[in-house]
Amino acid sequence: MAAFAITSCSSGGAKDAPAADFDYTVDRFADIEVLRYKVPGFEDLTPSQRLYIYYLTEAAIAGRDILWDQNGKYNLAIRDLVENVYTNYSGDRDDSNFKALELYLKQIEFGNGIHHHYSTDKFIPKFDREWFAAQAAAHPSAPSAEEMDTLLPVIFDPSVMTKRVNQAEGQDLILTSANNLYGGGVTQAEVENYYNALKDTTDLTPVSWGLNARVVKENGKVVEQVYKADGLYGPAISRIIENLEKAAEYAENDSQKAIIAKLVEFYRTGDLKKFDEYSIAWTEDTASRIDFINGFIESYGDPLGMTGAWESIVNFKNEEASERTHTIASNAKWFEANSPVDPRFRKDDVKGVSAKVITAAILAGDAYPATPIGINLPNANWIRAAHGSKSVTIENITEAYDQASHGNGFNEEFVIDEATGKLLDDYLFITDNLHTDLHECLGHASGRLLPGVDPDALKAHGSTLEETRADLFALYYLADPKLLELGLLDNPEAYKAEYYKYLLNGLMTQLVRIEPGKDVEEAHMRNRQLISKWVLEKGAPDNVVELVKRDGKTFVKINDYEKLRALFAQLLGEIQRIKSEGDYAAGAALVENYAVKVDPELHKEVLDRYSHLDIAPYRGFVNPVYTPVKDKDGNITDVTVSYEEEYLPQMLRYSKEYRTLGK
Ligand code: ZN
Repeated sequence: MAAFAITSCSSGGAKDAPAADFDYTVDRFADIEVLRYKVPGFEDLTPSQRLYIYYLTEAAIAGRDILWDQNGKYNLAIRDLVENVYTNYSGDRDDSNFKALELYLKQIEFGNGIHHHYSTDKFIPKFDREWFAAQAAAHPSAPSAEEMDTLLPVIFDPSVMTKRVNQAEGQDLILTSANNLYGGGVTQAEVENYYNALKDTTDLTPVSWGLNARVVKENGKVVEQVYKADGLYGPAISRIIENLEKAAEYAENDSQKAIIAKLVEFYRTGDLKKFDEYSIAWTEDTASRIDFINGFIESYGDPLGMTGAWESIVNFKNEEASERTHTIASNAKWFEANSPVDPRFRKDDVKGVSAKVITAAILAGDAYPATPIGINLPNANWIRAAHGSKSVTIENITEAYDQASHGNGFNEEFVIDEATGKLLDDYLFITDNLHTDLHECLGHASGRLLPGVDPDALKAHGSTLEETRADLFALYYLADPKLLELGLLDNPEAYKAEYYKYLLNGLMTQLVRIEPGKDVEEAHMRNRQLISKWVLEKGAPDNVVELVKRDGKTFVKINDYEKLRALFAQLLGEIQRIKSEGDYAAGAALVENYAVKVDPELHKEVLDRYSHLDIAPYRGFVNPVYTPVKDKDGNITDVTVSYEEEYLPQMLRYSKEYRTLGK
């Protein structure tokens, strides 16, 4: 299955000083920095548009508990327990146990559960188990002794529910993953057999099997518990529906109304055919100013890549910046026809690649607090082929990253020389945004499978190879004179900024996200390392790229940018062949040889140098707060936006006001 959210990198070269009136950083703990984002242009919308957005944001936050429960079956109970102990604590707030509890609470709120959002490893609390049990027992709504006996090992014992998503080859990925997408002792083989029996390989418009269901074994039989209004997650889904229906009253046009109606129908019935109908209507609506995602979308959280994690993003088009993506999209045919892949694997006709730059108004579910900076949906291959896809770059988020990175010392430490640093200062923001645009609106949309090739043929490596393909497409074209011709770049050297940063990240700096001794696991990180290590190795005879040592420090040195581009082209050709032919063995070999293993010495050096900078490897966001304006009769007539809310208060408020599931 294809998945298209991209995760931002931790580095960034800012060129403007942060706006003095807006403090981007909200909180900093463990490996996390929490930022704010602005919603520029919200004030310029009409009151009706603001109300439309408001109810969509309510429908977004309403689904929060779904993701928590998908991520782990004890997550909601543990959240209740930890929040209760935290908010009712009356002792010394400087006490080391309390401080450790606060840290743990911040971590689980960020992870939407007890596992790290990115590594999916379980957080290990640093407060005392007996202290915590005593605090919990003192509270009026204390869990029973029996419940505590269940929850305490889940919180404290490192060997219980260790990893949310296990992708280790050769193990039962379902039994060894701690997520709650499967239950009741069901095995990977049973799930695979169950869906293989349902799949009709002659169906040219297959539904996305498993997208909205928890698979369990009941009385020895494998069955689906479907997410729907009168099924699993019913109370949360009903609240989503309620707010979607209120939003519909303020829709800008009939197609938005029709899209909401289809989505509501899907939520009521759980019928995946309805979801496809909704996805098609959504894909075809490219004219509306305001847009949203709300549903079970990306499948990174499922080791089998089927079940969608619940998420929502509400947004409106940034008209000015969208000129850029419009230019790219309207030349999609040219890009496809000139791509360095075997013509048999190209699309004859690139259908409806629509691209725009958007301003996010709310992030929710799997897109919160950590969020993608670009999205390309829908995920169903046949819908993409027949109806195209919508691709967005979320520029108020990339801007917040960029502003918050300014002057953090990263480039000074890791970039090889001042000239390259200057190149990054001048061109990284624009080339990074262009890379995202090209990746999302052309990269994922390009290429085709040969007839009869199973879209899931690359199995567990599908996500990594798909991201590799999209990144290579973007890298290749960033250096193309076409971008100058189209007025997207004003300097033929600009692309070098992105090339340098990409290899620096893929070969070295993304390792800061990995603990010593561990492998690279996440799909986007694997993809970046795959590309970077491959070009390092294949370019070695011509010394295209090298790692050089200076004063005991390693630096990436690019000696020949043109040859580097040729290597990107060569690898793109091969990855496209693998995808088009469904060559699992070749794909697996590339991933295993280049994407997974880490040089322990270099890893240690990078962690060491990074630790002196005090930069968080991961970042996420608090949402703005939308407040309805009422007239004297209590009718809501407008909505205002504010940015003052802090991180933990926002989380605690969401838990209280948007609580739909759990006890
Ligand atoms: Zn992608």
